[in-house]
Amino acid sequence: MSKIILNKGREKSVIAGNKWIFSGAVKESDANDGEIADVISSSGDFLGSAYYNSKTQIAARVMSLGEKFTDSILLKNIKSAILRRKIARIDEDTDAFRLIFSEADNIPGFIADSFASHLSIQSMTFGVDLLKEKIISILVDELKPKSVYEKSDHAGRKLEGVNAQNGQIYGETPDEVEITEHGIKYPIDIKTGQKTGFFIDQRENRKLIKNISSGRTVLNLFSYTGGFSFAAIAGGAHKAISVDISADALAIADKTAVLNGFEEKHDTIKADIFDLIRSRDFNEDIIIIDPPAFVKSKGAIDKGCRGYKDVNMNVFKRCAPNRIVLTCSCSRFINMDLFQKIIFGAALDAKRNAYIIGKYSHPADHPVNIYHPETEYLKAILLIVE
Ligand code: SAH
Repeated sequence: MSKIILNKGREKSVIAGNKWIFSGAVKESDANDGEIADVISSSGDFLGSAYYNSKTQIAARVMSLGEKFTDSILLKNIKSAILRRKIARIDEDTDAFRLIFSEADNIPGFIADSFASHLSIQSMTFGVDLLKEKIISILVDELKPKSVYEKSDHAGRKLEGVNAQNGQIYGETPDEVEITEHGIKYPIDIKTGQKTGFFIDQRENRKLIKNISSGRTVLNLFSYTGGFSFAAIAGGAHKAISVDISADALAIADKTAVLNGFEEKHDTIKADIFDLIRSRDFNEDIIIIDPPAFVKSKGAIDKGCRGYKDVNMNVFKRCAPNRIVLTCSCSRFINMDLFQKIIFGAALDAKRNAYIIGKYSHPADHPVNIYHPETEYLKAILLIVE
């Protein structure tokens, strides 16, 4: 069996349940890229199993702790991920949810989302590419999905030394799958949409907007296919405007409006929001700011922070008094404290008083593994800008 031998003092976080072994923690390894190997402490103790990759900063991801990884551990981990969704009653108000969330569900590098029983799966690492067939066969056995489609096009795969892989794996995924969330129908394009097809991680925040939108107007910046807009209209908003740079996303938003009979109350604007925020006032009652991850690596934190500050500062500056703003960040490298500091800086520069009336994250189908808190990534702050 190949080995990953750790440097002295670097076993602590592994023993404590963290899944990541950084390259600086590895003294030596004879494992091939993608291979599952024994993790050995500097004093020679066996700690568990991890898959290895010499090319990436995260050199190994732990698959089992205190015991050798086996197929039955994989089965147990998948079953317990499914059980957690059942315990949380995730499917009470939606048929679109994350089934397996990578490190959080003890299958590092693997994501599976379920859209009305059509699975959209994603492998982010070489190690998972080699386990994929087994994982999918378990998912098919356990869940009897209608279809499984692979969308492994995450940018990080390049660093892993593996190419993007997209395609049908099981059954037949239709070009459009209709899901229902909080009573609203959304057509999902699993094959060509962004991420796995829908930003299911904002589900509870869409519900929040639904609950406060009655009789109000809503501007949805970085709308993608308009999720927040339709939640607002379903909650009684007079009007919601979806703004995005992607014509494809807005075309799906138009379709969604028709599907729900919301077309009178919904508009789209195709624009670069960095231009729009300098050329428009914001009189809508509620403004949602949900940009893509501006920080994709540790080295890009400063630049990304400036991006978040720029958008928020300009919205605060140009919004009418006493507007509600829901501002979000999905960058894993920015925690809630830092995000709040960015919003503080934006309010200060805009010379506006702002009051935090809620702070939110992702829902129960994106659990945070207590031993691997890096799985927490979404921050949403609800403000009144005076
Ligand atoms: N709020 C959405 C998810 C937003 S994802 C939801 O709940 O579904 C981020 C979106 O920002 C993507 O749709 C992307 O096309 C868009 N985007 C990225 N850069 C942009 C820019 N400069 N101007 C406008 N939209 C942009």
